[in-house]
Amino acid sequence: MSPAPRPSVAVVGAGIAGATCARALADAGFAVQVFDKSRGVGGRLATRRTEWTGADGSATPARFDHGAPAFEARSEAFVRVVEAAERDGLLARWSPSVDRDGRLDTDPAAQWVPTPDMPTLCRSLLAGLPMQTGCTVDALRREPGGWVLESAGVAVSPRVDRVVLAIPPPQAAVLLAPHRPDWAERARAVAMVPCWTLMAVTDAPATPPAWDLAEPSTGPAGLIVRSDARPGRTRVPGRAHWVVHARHAWSRAHLEDPPADVQARLRDALAQQVGQPLAWHHASVHRWRYAHAPADAAGPDLCEWDPDAGLGACGDALGGAGVEGAWRSGRALAARLVEHPLGHGREAGRA
Ligand SMILES: Cc1cc2nc3c(=O)[nH]c(=O)nc-3n(C[C@H](O)[C@H](O)[C@H](O)COP(=O)(O)OP(=O)(O)OC[C@H]3O[C@@H](n4cnc5c(N)ncnc54)[C@H](O)[C@@H]3O)c2cc1C
Repeated sequence: MSPAPRPSVAVVGAGIAGATCARALADAGFAVQVFDKSRGVGGRLATRRTEWTGADGSATPARFDHGAPAFEARSEAFVRVVEAAERDGLLARWSPSVDRDGRLDTDPAAQWVPTPDMPTLCRSLLAGLPMQTGCTVDALRREPGGWVLESAGVAVSPRVDRVVLAIPPPQAAVLLAPHRPDWAERARAVAMVPCWTLMAVTDAPATPPAWDLAEPSTGPAGLIVRSDARPGRTRVPGRAHWVVHARHAWSRAHLEDPPADVQARLRDALAQQVGQPLAWHHASVHRWRYAHAPADAAGPDLCEWDPDAGLGACGDALGGAGVEGAWRSGRALAARLVEHPLGHGREAGRA
């Protein structure tokens, strides 16, 4: 008797939700292929590599963790996962000193930082899986016997039994609309929170700040991070690397402002927080249209799954805001696929 064929699945999105789901499915015997529109993996667990040019014309490399700066692990299951990743050298525990309007908290809840860069965790989960990066999936075609993924009118996948969408809801809604208009409508209703982010290099302040993180209660900046004071990051003598995340409401109000204006406001906020003159070498901004799922995000099932169609969706907007919520959602969706043996979706696809 020939062995049963391995069910095949295409996972769209290589952030923590997609990577978690893809790894669990591969471990359960699925033939998994992963697609992401970015050049690399990690999604909002992101590290920007850039260069700035000094007065003498020399180029200096710089790295900024410009998405999630770190994350917490609250549930026992996720604590087990992050502690195992720490043992494997993929994560470091971070207990930053936090300044809140001049009050210093030296004992905040521990957070976790992937090392040596933010995508490490997803890279490790996806190791060995076939992957297409730089590939924006803009349509799902349902055929007898399965699904084909398309980009700009061209098929980018072979026919697969199952499709998992692990992408933010406004992007998922476009792909879902022809197949599950009810899910698409729910996805469109999710009010994702935007975030403007400043990445900057200055001379190191004459007096080093006592804080690693600052959370000012007024002004455009909601979170100021001494980027090179984080675990596993390199400190360059004489320089300081900063990441400033604008407050949610401010980002929303200024979403369409010219980047130069946003940069000027966030530079002012950084200078005010540091409280000393800063000599600037580099500054740039990034606009995250879909930075955070709303705080009350999470469906009862933590994911969407249609066994007849062989179609599912996961991500922070379904599993709960933040990295742990996205991980929970990816894990929940993988469990649902494993529950439904091969053939179910295929037969429905033929109907
Ligand atoms: C500035 C900022 C600060 C944050 N701070 C924190 C924090 O302190 N703590 C915390 O827990 N969380 C924080 N978060 C949120 C956290 O990063 C996210 O909740 C989590 O990473 C979401 O993971 P995900 O896999 O659901 O989605 P994503 O990480 O967004 O992954 C989705 C992937 O899908 C890809 N994609 C999208 N559309 C397509 C398409 N059509 N075709 C192919 N690929 C596609 C994207 O390129 C991306 O790689 C922060 C996020 C930002 C941006």
